[in-house]
Amino acid sequence: MDKNVRICIVGGGPAGLSAGMYLEQKGYENYTILERLDRVGGKCWSPTYNGRRYEMGAIMGVPSYYAVHDVEAFCGITHDGPQLNRNYKNKNGDVIEPFEPKKNILKIPRLLKMKKQVKKLGEILETKYKGYDVNGHRGVAEGRYDGFSQANAKREPVSGENPNLKDLCLPFNQFCKLNGVELTQDIWIGPFTSFGYGYFDEIPAAYVLKYLDFQTCMNFVKINLWTWKNGTQYIWEQLNDHLKHPARLNSRIDKVERKDGKVFVTVNGEVEEYDKIIVTAPLYIPNKRTDGQIGMVDYFDAREDEKALFSKIDYERYDVLAVETKPEDHPEISYYVFDNMTPETMGHLMVYYRRWKDTKDQVITTYALRKHKDKAEIPYEECRKTVLEDLKTMHNPAKNVVNEWSVYYFPHVFSEDYAAGWYDKVEAMQGKYDTYYAGEVMSFGDMDETAEYSRELVERFF
Ligand SMILES: Cc1cc2nc3c(=O)[nH]c(=O)nc-3n(C[C@H](O)[C@H](O)[C@H](O)COP(=O)(O)OP(=O)(O)OC[C@H]3O[C@@H](n4cnc5c(N)ncnc54)[C@H](O)[C@@H]3O)c2cc1C
Repeated sequence: MDKNVRICIVGGGPAGLSAGMYLEQKGYENYTILERLDRVGGKCWSPTYNGRRYEMGAIMGVPSYYAVHDVEAFCGITHDGPQLNRNYKNKNGDVIEPFEPKKNILKIPRLLKMKKQVKKLGEILETKYKGYDVNGHRGVAEGRYDGFSQANAKREPVSGENPNLKDLCLPFNQFCKLNGVELTQDIWIGPFTSFGYGYFDEIPAAYVLKYLDFQTCMNFVKINLWTWKNGTQYIWEQLNDHLKHPARLNSRIDKVERKDGKVFVTVNGEVEEYDKIIVTAPLYIPNKRTDGQIGMVDYFDAREDEKALFSKIDYERYDVLAVETKPEDHPEISYYVFDNMTPETMGHLMVYYRRWKDTKDQVITTYALRKHKDKAEIPYEECRKTVLEDLKTMHNPAKNVVNEWSVYYFPHVFSEDYAAGWYDKVEAMQGKYDTYYAGEVMSFGDMDETAEYSRELVERFF
């Protein structure tokens, strides 16, 4: 492609900013990043409280976050944040140690069985499901793998046939049953459901295992995790500052028209002309949101194939509260509440995060899900009330709420559409209307997978 091609990038989150970085590194310098808000980072949002940054969005990474590492190297920064640690409580607020055999004598047989099944899952992922862990979802529904290996920082392209990969279209609980590893869900649920990615009876195994590949899941178990002192938003602020063309903030895109091989983008009332457009912002939002976010199909001259495919996308209703406590009520560590990670206990507090251990004058953040594929959505206010009640039950009552948001979170498709080849159809559309689709739905809703997908998009098409 001509290196002077004029490229518009919609969205200044990890996917959009890293697309800018990888384009620039490949010699494409004629790019413009349009961001609707007055800040970059998207769901990496780290506001300041009492002089320190806390996390309303992304919190952590693992050593295999190679794209994030690329960004750190580009900007000369590193993961210098507080060490993570956690404990567990039951729904009554009692501290428990669910994985400690000595404290769970009656559960020893189950714990031993679980350990065996974790080992088995690790083995079959390497053998029966070879190719499961490449970034993105190309070919999975057809029993192929085609992507860039995540085995090491080189991330070389790999491809091959593996009919077993079709099993990844199943909801994760069915995938586990099929392979006789049901108890592994006890381990995978922590960094999956409580992190807002939905329930195992509704989310295709492909999402679960591409994000929580065996190594990544073990990093969570061993708490081998990265954080950033100034928050995850700092990574993307730094990247933005180091780009030749930082994102243009407060860009309201009124309209996008694609005709005669050009892309006309109306930004804050003015028409701008480009040759190509990369969309990292939401492609489709099924319902009206109070934060004003809309899907790409609503402001683009969306074609029938785009509308038909993108209308299959759903997302999670994941609510975050930042609360102050009295010093005597401040938790001494973060807590997971496994009892509240089931569809039956939807709307309850699943995890709360205490970021700074050296002080009690900082906020703690709470996390709850309030939607399941087969259930009525719980209203925001009701869920908020339940979570604040739960904090009391946990013996860490909130004094007041200092920040809150209901996130457009983890866009994905369900098993039927995944198995019907949703990803291969969308991948076949890449570039068709001078348009490229990136961001969370194309890979997974974490900051590394989205940045990695942008890297691969640039490798494949530019
Ligand atoms: C509570 C929470 C916890 C999380 N924890 C982690 C974690 O620990 N580790 C991890 O790796 N990830 C975590 N994530 C997920 C991670 O933050 C996201 O997956 C990542 O930010 C996605 O990047 P993105 O660029 O694809 O999308 P986003 O971050 O959503 O960025 C999209 C950008 O596009 C902009 N935009 C939207 N519409 C338009 C428009 N019409 N025009 C212009 N701009 C537009 C948005 O304002 C936004 O800046 C968490 C997220 C949340 C909310």
